[in-house]
Amino acid sequence: MGWHSSDTREVILDDVHLAADAVLGTEGRGFQQIMHGFQLERIALAAMGLGHAAECLDLSRAYVSERQAFGAPLTNLQTIRHKLAMMEIELDSARLLTYQSAARLDANHPDALKTVAQAKFLAAIAANRIVDDAVQLLGGAGFVEESAVARHYRDARILRIGGGTDEIQLEILTKGLTP
Ligand SMILES: Cc1cc2nc3c(=O)[nH]c(=O)nc-3n(C[C@H](O)[C@H](O)[C@H](O)COP(=O)(O)OP(=O)(O)OC[C@H]3O[C@@H](n4cnc5c(N)ncnc54)[C@H](O)[C@@H]3O)c2cc1C
Repeated sequence: MGWHSSDTREVILDDVHLAADAVLGTEGRGFQQIMHGFQLERIALAAMGLGHAAECLDLSRAYVSERQAFGAPLTNLQTIRHKLAMMEIELDSARLLTYQSAARLDANHPDALKTVAQAKFLAAIAANRIVDDAVQLLGGAGFVEESAVARHYRDARILRIGGGTDEIQLEILTKGLTP
């Protein structure tokens, strides 16, 4: 669907022998090490969502200011202006939580992992809603394959899947609630 520059392949390791000095990190701590890497990946994915959303908001603003319908720009319509306001609210909320998660991870804050999961979840969903709103605001010009918002629409979808799906973030956030 998107991310065409991400070359995704199956890798099969069959009867592979490596010298002891080829071990990455500390022996026996692979899981912990990869989980630490996942925290950075999740913040990066949340930040990618902010990028998709910010550009879609800019492109939407430009289009609705220029596009004349029934003798006036689309921004004359309250429903259009309100949609832009809601897109910005979602983007700003996702941005604040993403920045907070990065600051907490840097500072080894006790709630860092929780905030990272919240940021990854919120930013991915907000980005998907905002790119969808942008396609709607641009109408047919947003749907055609060569439009910039159509590419954001396709590429943003993976953010709810990669680096741990929405469902996995919710699992992280509710771990410990089951008896
Ligand atoms: C273009 C692309 C690039 C990628 N790049 C990378 C990469 O660089 N590094 C990397 O590590 N991975 C990468 N991935 C893989 C990606 O991380 C996985 O696709 C993702 O983690 C989801 O795993 P899955 O596809 O096996 O889904 P599945 O595990 O098959 O999940 C299917 C559905 O079931 C749900 N589900 C599964 N388990 C649970 C559960 N316990 N509770 C509730 N719901 C559950 C999921 O949320 C999802 O909705 C990439 C994938 C793509 C498509």
